Amino acid sequence: MTVQVSDRAKPVPTAGVASLAPYRQGKIEIAGVAEPLKLSSNESMVGPSKAAIAAYKGMADRLALYPDGSQRALRNALAEVYSLDAEEIVCGNGSEELIQLVIRAFVAPDDEVVLSQYSFAMAFIHATAQGARTVVAEEPALCPDVDHILAAVTPRTKLVIVASPNNPVGQYLPKRELTRLVDALPSDVILLLDGAYADYVDADDFDAGELFVETRSNVVMTRTFSKLYGLAGLRIGWMYAPPGILDAVQRIRTPFNANAAALAAAEAAVRDTGHAAFVRQENGVELSRIAAALAGSGIEFIRSAANFYLLRFAGKDRDATGAAAFLEANGIIPRPVNAGGPAGCLRVTVGRPHHNDRVVAALLAFMQG
Ligand SMILES: *Cc1c(COP(=O)(O)O)cnc(C)c1O
Repeated sequence: MTVQVSDRAKPVPTAGVASLAPYRQGKIEIAGVAEPLKLSSNESMVGPSKAAIAAYKGMADRLALYPDGSQRALRNALAEVYSLDAEEIVCGNGSEELIQLVIRAFVAPDDEVVLSQYSFAMAFIHATAQGARTVVAEEPALCPDVDHILAAVTPRTKLVIVASPNNPVGQYLPKRELTRLVDALPSDVILLLDGAYADYVDADDFDAGELFVETRSNVVMTRTFSKLYGLAGLRIGWMYAPPGILDAVQRIRTPFNANAAALAAAEAAVRDTGHAAFVRQENGVELSRIAAALAGSGIEFIRSAANFYLLRFAGKDRDATGAAAFLEANGIIPRPVNAGGPAGCLRVTVGRPHHNDRVVAALLAFMQG
């Protein structure tokens, strides 16, 4: 007897994978606009250091060779510039990959992963695919909330993920709150501090967590070259982790996860501290300038410690949806935060001064229009 093709059982993904909705990237184009001003993904509008571009081009003659699987040169550069121990650094295909590797190495089906509310959407995807239960710790003040995080921890919790600064609000956990969290968390629960925007923060009470990585066995920090360093297209990030966590990640990391061009460009980028300082400084100046320009406009400006800001629209006939449409009609792509953030808000990436002037002019026209 022949079996009809249509009757045959089909391959079935795991329950966790099947439960996920397809990922949707932020808008990247506007119909009819050749070069829209894309301010939806917090990419650097300054771009990378010239030295990083030169290092990238320098790799063009060496594409036949595998990358250095030990990532030695980039780890040494990071250790020097950030005053860290090179032996506790590992690099990845974006920090996203490193978050995924920690989840795969430590989280089993039915374990729990606590996600602080305004953290990285990819962490939810990887934890769910792993079969874990995700628990959201609310951020009622739009900032990571230690009491809510601790209340969400149970004996089944393996991992807590906190983005600091968070996204889409850009608020960070102050040093004393981070200390309180680390001290109260059970020592077998990993605290992953997602520091994608840490390079922008210029405040005395900020702590990216390096010292906790060096003194505790359960704290890790992930960082990226996608934001301040302007290398999002190359996919390169790094993690600082204590030996036990590093060892587990190294067992499942494929040796060539970070490509040779990315390693070379990132090494040059991190050594160009002048470029990084310029980007950080201009970002802060521009945030202040945008805030001042929108004062009294009827739009609430929520300043972040990162390279973006939130705009809250309270008016009935001047809402976030209308504002997004108006900006797009003017060739500007913002990011509506929808379910992933506070209601009625658009997230906008800080651009160069002339970009920000364009955004401000369009916003004022929208409010007056
Ligand atoms: C952009 C971003 C990252 C960076 O991801 P990469 O994979 O390094 O490009 C991580 N976390 C948050 C919250 C981000 O916004």
